Amino acid sequence: MGRMQDIMEKTDRLGAHNYHPKEVVIERAEGAMAYGVDGREYFDMLSAYSALNFGHCHPEIIEAAKAQLDRVTLTSRAFYNAVLGDFYERLCAMTGKGMALPMNTGAEAVETALKTARRWAVDVKGVRDGSQEIIVCKNNFHGRTIAIISMSTDDSARRAYGPYTEGFRVVEYGDAGAMEAAINENTAAFLVEPIQGEAGVVVPPAGYLAKVREICSRRGILFIADEVQTGFARTGRMFACGHEGVEPDVYVLGKALGGGVMPVSAVAADSDILGVFEPGSHGSTFGGNPLACAVAIKAMEILERDDYPGMASEKGAYFMDRLRGLKNGSILEIRGKGLLIGMELSEDAAPYVKALIKAGVLAKETHERVIRFAPPIVISREQIDAAFDRIAGVFDGQRA
Ligand SMILES: *Cc1c(COP(=O)(O)O)cnc(C)c1O
Repeated sequence: MGRMQDIMEKTDRLGAHNYHPKEVVIERAEGAMAYGVDGREYFDMLSAYSALNFGHCHPEIIEAAKAQLDRVTLTSRAFYNAVLGDFYERLCAMTGKGMALPMNTGAEAVETALKTARRWAVDVKGVRDGSQEIIVCKNNFHGRTIAIISMSTDDSARRAYGPYTEGFRVVEYGDAGAMEAAINENTAAFLVEPIQGEAGVVVPPAGYLAKVREICSRRGILFIADEVQTGFARTGRMFACGHEGVEPDVYVLGKALGGGVMPVSAVAADSDILGVFEPGSHGSTFGGNPLACAVAIKAMEILERDDYPGMASEKGAYFMDRLRGLKNGSILEIRGKGLLIGMELSEDAAPYVKALIKAGVLAKETHERVIRFAPPIVISREQIDAAFDRIAGVFDGQRA
């Protein structure tokens, strides 16, 4: 067996099978490109589900990480560290919020937002503890913890994990009227993805976010935007809520915040909301660690300095336009915003994905019939053209 086969065999034999990876073994990557152990070169069109907005190994982010590695990496929150305050300052400036709470993974940030909303309902609205309700959307993806899969409508994410966490109401995504009808005196919040990424790059009807924002304000519930995947420029705005000029009460952030280097997540909101926490009420050993903060600060600096939203918007429009020119009877729709693009097919996407990978394009299907094209935002126009040629070779005028 070759080295690649050996690695895949060992990984499959010893690791739990909670993933079914494509047959690519990456050993090195730079910018928009990844390189396999077999020497093959790939355009990365998944970007680790938008965690790699800066591309692989962005030199300035790697440099910031290395500099921090030589100083201090972990202090725990038992003590102050020299970087956390600067992390808060940047994140608050970017989100326009007065406070932030750092965690590590996106799921932890979602859990933090759920706790925030439940406490806020009790402490501020006077809802009886144990009765709080949170409204979520059908086909949501917010992570993998027990509480989070309890609000999922995806059976493969939920099966045999009961008993489930109570207190969630599920409404149709994109239907503001259904959301309002689900509100009662115990409702704490509405939690929503501005674009549903995992559901297959589902863009809600225009005006939806503005409408639910208005409803949340009028009915006195929190509007929580899960921007873990859409945030930090991916969709052509710094935050996807910005497409409708909307500010949520609570931002849930992760993925790209870690610069493609570290798991870094956070919740950002004003102090009348995040002020519900007192010492001991929530925490994380690694949350807010100096290495994570140093990486995130540099990532946020680059996002603003280099106008990543502008880049994603412009490159996304160009790429989407090219994809729309593909001639293949099985392509039903090309949709998305910025560089978060979904291609919906009338048939199983897996054979196409296999052909794409063979042609040197890393992509993955989401729900059987959608392929997501979400390259690093640093991808150049020439690279988009080169990747497109390979994509066209798979799709144009033929079936997989
Ligand atoms: C990826 C994702 C999460 C979970 O993030 P993890 O870091 O994998 O825990 C939550 N919400 C959305 C919208 C995501 O895309």
